[in-house]
Amino acid sequence: MRAMVLSAPGQPLALENRETPRPAPGQLLLRVKACAVCRTDLHVADGDLKPCRDKIVPGHEIVGEIEALGEGVSGFEQGQRVGVGWLGFTCGECAFCRRGEENLCDLAKFTGYQLDGGFAGYAVADARCCFPLPEGYSDAEAAPLLCAGLIGYRSLKMAGQGRALGLYGFGAAAHIVAQVAAYEGRNVYAFTRPGDEAAQQFARLLGCRWAGGSDEKPETPLDAAIIFAPAGELVPAALRAVRKGGIVVCGGIHMSDIPSFPYSILWGERVLRSVANLTRRDAIEFLALAPKVPVKTTVQIFDLGDANEALSRLRRGELTGAAVLVP
Ligand SMILES: [Zn+2]
Ligand SMILES: [Zn+2]
Repeated sequence: MRAMVLSAPGQPLALENRETPRPAPGQLLLRVKACAVCRTDLHVADGDLKPCRDKIVPGHEIVGEIEALGEGVSGFEQGQRVGVGWLGFTCGECAFCRRGEENLCDLAKFTGYQLDGGFAGYAVADARCCFPLPEGYSDAEAAPLLCAGLIGYRSLKMAGQGRALGLYGFGAAAHIVAQVAAYEGRNVYAFTRPGDEAAQQFARLLGCRWAGGSDEKPETPLDAAIIFAPAGELVPAALRAVRKGGIVVCGGIHMSDIPSFPYSILWGERVLRSVANLTRRDAIEFLALAPKVPVKTTVQIFDLGDANEALSRLRRGELTGAAVLVP
């Protein structure tokens, strides 16, 4: 099979021919139909996340067709379409797993980081981390639901019930969250890189009430804000934009250092928190909700061999919606 492989952080991915993997007990072998490109893939490729394995195949928004079932797998059938996200393995036994917080599992493994991911013709995945996908989405359209959608949805839950919601960074995750939030009757305020008219126009098209630069302030204080852009300076900016008791959620896995800020902007019971990974419950809830909204994903399709080009465009902020690789 063809696979795009990361040999060392900072290096471009290299196209390799590899043996097609075999499913171990409890795993599914998937023929990859599409795999979206997430900012986390960029953090892995650039070495912002500590490298933990040589020669990893990135990609954790996998849409695949089941080619073979490993020993002991039930509840799936050959030919079925499933999705795999970032959470690739949990132990099921640690205190976090027992509390239903398997997103925080001490022994968790992540797709495209510790486990080979979907920038390849085939992938194996733990069947407990594979989810049937809603019909009505093409393979490429379904792929961004699996991280941008899932992490976005978990971030939205953590942001509470407030009506006035700010989204900082209007990329793949925000373009999905904006639609869910509008469906829930919220007013969405989109903050982009200052001067990024195209992203602001895109946000308005998706139903955002207001779109502007991250250096601007909306007319009303926000009830909550979610930061998807990996820029630490957005944390004090978002704290200044939320009302007393408001919530600021950091939705990304990596962020540049947060500059020091006066306590007064956190005072007034404002809450600052991060969101890590996702639970199976998040996946099941969101994949049922998406077709009801209905969430429409905007994708730019690239051939698997052009993964480096897709990553470069994401790094430069030149994508509208999500990049998706098709083998
Ligand atoms: Zn665990
Ligand atoms: Zn991701």
